[in-house]
Amino acid sequence: MTKVYRLPEPLSSNLAHIRGSETVAINAEAKRLRALGQDIVDLSVGEPDFDTPASAAQAGVQAIQKGTTRYPPNIGIADLRTAMANHLSQLSGGRPVDPDRLVVSTGSKQALFNACFALFGPKDKVLIPSPAWVSYPQIVHLSRAEPVMVPGDGEWGLKVSVKDLEKYTDKLVKGLLLCSPCNPTGSVYTLSELKAIGDWARKHNVWIVSDEIYRRINYGSGAAPSFFDLPDEYLEKTVVVYGASKAYAMTGWRIGAAYAPPHVAKAMANLQSHTTTGANHPAQVAAAMAFSDPKVEQEVVKMTAAFRRRRDRLVERFRVEAPGVEFVEPHGAFYLFFRVDGVGAKGLTGTRFCERLLGEHGVALVPGAAFNDDRWVRLSYAASEKDLGKGVDRIMKCFAEFEAGLV
Ligand code: PMP
Ligand code: GLU
Repeated sequence: MTKVYRLPEPLSSNLAHIRGSETVAINAEAKRLRALGQDIVDLSVGEPDFDTPASAAQAGVQAIQKGTTRYPPNIGIADLRTAMANHLSQLSGGRPVDPDRLVVSTGSKQALFNACFALFGPKDKVLIPSPAWVSYPQIVHLSRAEPVMVPGDGEWGLKVSVKDLEKYTDKLVKGLLLCSPCNPTGSVYTLSELKAIGDWARKHNVWIVSDEIYRRINYGSGAAPSFFDLPDEYLEKTVVVYGASKAYAMTGWRIGAAYAPPHVAKAMANLQSHTTTGANHPAQVAAAMAFSDPKVEQEVVKMTAAFRRRRDRLVERFRVEAPGVEFVEPHGAFYLFFRVDGVGAKGLTGTRFCERLLGEHGVALVPGAAFNDDRWVRLSYAASEKDLGKGVDRIMKCFAEFEAGLV
């Protein structure tokens, strides 16, 4: 008897725009190849190679042993919200930060989703400076709003100015998703630039969702400038997203948070009460320790110093060994964003370069296509110095092959 194959039922229009995260997928592919025994250097994913600081990890283990394994309070345990509020206050010269306005979530990814889902909807436009982290347009689509990519200025670390934003501003623009220090470029907005953008938002009655997950990984002095460093009125229509993943080497614990005006915090909490019932309980105990233990603070400073050394070495090698390759000078986060369309025969794409680099040289990077501009490639230097050295040697070889027209 002939077998009849049916086409799968179409899925809901909720997912009309969704595709899987490229950063997550490339990392998985690198792991798969490595498990097959291949010599792969993975500089794709933005994940610190350091262990979670010991006292935070122990606090998590002890929480499990003591039976802190039941449902958490939906908005987050008081210890964590207080510790994070105190920490954010200290970073901004002691300004008041109200723990009741913090909603703890499953990573800052969920905090971003909660904020966008609570604030935006059909017919709204949300401006996103481009290049942009892979999940921003997708999260805006999930909230049924329209992401509008605003190209950053090549002369200015690919950041956007108020002038750039004005070009895309109309009555439908309801939000701006800002990332500083920026993934994928490593650019950092100065406080006066943040203030100017805040003034633009106030003038046009636009919400700002400020993703400050990399705030501590800043190569200027202290933490990177934040909306918390501006007067209260700049927080009236701003949601600040923060978390433990990056600076605290706690990616797998999945703890993030959003700081929002009370009615928005309430709406996000209601939403989350139907999706996750709050973030993992023992992980919250671990994060509370991370945000309050001075020993952890020392670790954060050490890890940031290590990222800075790696950045310096990387930038020096690119300058000396690939003088024709343009890159954005990173001032924060742990990414080097470099341009490949001028390498070899004109018109090389990030995707082609990354395919060749992984296939022939065993180095995983992320093509700029994931960030809305495939003239570029992102390298994550949140990797050991040994891997970085080996990875850059191979990248230089790959540049040389394209330059020599061998590929
Ligand atoms: N924002 C940016 C800019 C990121 O690079 C990441 C990386 N994962 C996140 C948010 C989400 O981080 P997490 O969910 O681990 O807190
Ligand atoms: N944010 C990191 C990155 O850009 C982790 C992966 C992800 O969540 O996208 O690589």
